[in-house]
Amino acid sequence: ATRVGVLALQGDVREHLRVLSELGAEAMPVRRPAEVEAVDGLVIPGGESSVIDKLSRTFGVADSIRRRIAEGLPVYGTCAGLIMLADRVLDGIEGQQSFGGLDVSVRRNAFGNQTRSFETDLDVPVLGAPPVHAAFIRAPVVVDLGEQAEALASLEDGTVVAVQQGSLLGTSFHPEVTGESRFHRHFLGLVAAAR
Ligand code: GLN
Repeated sequence: ATRVGVLALQGDVREHLRVLSELGAEAMPVRRPAEVEAVDGLVIPGGESSVIDKLSRTFGVADSIRRRIAEGLPVYGTCAGLIMLADRVLDGIEGQQSFGGLDVSVRRNAFGNQTRSFETDLDVPVLGAPPVHAAFIRAPVVVDLGEQAEALASLEDGTVVAVQQGSLLGTSFHPEVTGESRFHRHFLGLVAAAR
């Protein structure tokens, strides 16, 4: 079976493990460099990107993840995970780093205090009908896309909230908390293609 890791330092790890297992992948939590080496794909969960950043450096997995991304490892990041995949992070805490790989800028906590969290239905052409019911929880947005990065979904005002670049996939929202599995299925297709 396809072995897909979920970076298990902080955040909604269990939800991702569940969706991936339901789709037939061998899903495993990843905390150590040897585990990073052992997977065919990696999911970076939602949570708090500054914490995931610090813990990934403390646990010594940040460099392994960076190297595997550079070698073409398929990675899917949701929310804080999208922030970790972005080459450029706006409104990070002092010294905050990302793994990078996606040639985009993301703005953390982009919806301000009034609408920190909301749900909406999103058209995602690559997934077909019906629309995706998306939960945004203190979510980031993509504020500019490099030439290689493709927007997969936008809000009505044009704000980009899902992006793909080769085998890297990122969403501002959390499909794993609303019972939506099509993004994970799409991701497993990228993993299968890369193997
Ligand atoms: N605001 C969080 C961050 O900056 C992301 C929130 C989330 O993952 N739901 O990392």
